Amino acid sequence: MANKVVPRTFKASLRNHSQVEGDLDALGFSGSKLWNVGRWTVQRVWDEIEHIPEHDELTAYLKNHERYDDLHSQSSQRILQELAEAFHSWYSKRTNGDTRANPPGYRKHGDEHPRSTITFKNKGFKLDTENNRVRLSKGKNTKDYWSDFALCEYETRPDVDLPTVESVQQVRAVWTGDKWELHFVCRVEIEVADAPGESTVGIDLGICTFAALAYEDETAELYPLGCLKEDGYYFGKHIANCDDSSSERAEQLHRKWSNRRTHYFHALSKHIVERCVEKRVGSITIGDLSGVREDEDDEVKNWGTHGNLDLHGWAFDRFTNILTYKAEMQGVEVNPVSERDTSKTCSCCGRERDSNRVERGLYVCDSCELVANADVNGAENIRQVPLSPSAVSAADRSNGWLAQPSTVLFDKETGSFVPQEQVRS
Ligand SMILES: [Zn+2]
Repeated sequence: MANKVVPRTFKASLRNHSQVEGDLDALGFSGSKLWNVGRWTVQRVWDEIEHIPEHDELTAYLKNHERYDDLHSQSSQRILQELAEAFHSWYSKRTNGDTRANPPGYRKHGDEHPRSTITFKNKGFKLDTENNRVRLSKGKNTKDYWSDFALCEYETRPDVDLPTVESVQQVRAVWTGDKWELHFVCRVEIEVADAPGESTVGIDLGICTFAALAYEDETAELYPLGCLKEDGYYFGKHIANCDDSSSERAEQLHRKWSNRRTHYFHALSKHIVERCVEKRVGSITIGDLSGVREDEDDEVKNWGTHGNLDLHGWAFDRFTNILTYKAEMQGVEVNPVSERDTSKTCSCCGRERDSNRVERGLYVCDSCELVANADVNGAENIRQVPLSPSAVSAADRSNGWLAQPSTVLFDKETGSFVPQEQVRS
């Protein structure tokens, strides 16, 4: 056991929601306006000199703009930082060959995010944990004659105590779609287990097979997570039937869908971490490109537009975050690596040739005649990324296992994962 300081977020509801709603709405809309001003500025800079400004450059451009003073300066700064991060993340996905990634857009009324999340840093909030109150600072322009802050009374879950005031780094006001809530971002000390071992595993995330795992001990597992696909059809159909995509009913369906996805991701992460402990894995390498392989195009189209967007974009990142959090508690480290070329390269001889092909889910190498499960081949390549070449070749590994992964299915009845051969129905 060792102690480690980690970031943790505690959510809280607002007890005086109706009193502060107006103030928070005003701040959220101001955040969206500043975001749009920033968005427009980035575009201008890009058109002129083909450069995406870093957040400090963007802040330097805009700190005298009148919209900047609608929020506390630290809150404005944070909005521009998020914008710059979103642009750089989109740009690196594009550079890595993900043609589906879209640049961050403008925030309009009627959008999913008309009210931007507002972050308050140390100078922007004053917290009173004894009375469960927090003062959130407004900007110079939005101060009323009688008040320059919104006084929120919050309530955390009964089983959660907010750590000491000093540990709270940021307070975020987040619009959930029907109400505001507060997120307290803290640094807390936790006990983490010692690493279960020194072995490694590679994880390839995809649409057809949600996760493929290649372990150092020459075994492989596939997690198709069919429930994601079933939900995709179900919710996709019902949302499409809504008259208006921004209607209350449609938003409700989106939220329910997203909660169910989060549930699956927790269950799968928990299972994978348990497998790592059993197999003495100390380090997970996971592909971080949320793009989808070209041969899966047809599958993707069948999911309906919204399903794709959701799954391509944040779903893989979300899963990786949950996995990282759970793994870290067990002393297992998680390293995201670029997935670039990992699906095209032969994990056995390392060659990438045009004649190497994928047929019916099998990867066939023309050089060394390897026949592997395509997802396992990708996962094994990902596992090898951080290893030294000698650690890979000197191992003198067999390769028959690459073609024989075991498939593990999610059982909705019990909420656990079972090997396919044990599923009776
Ligand atoms: Zn080969």
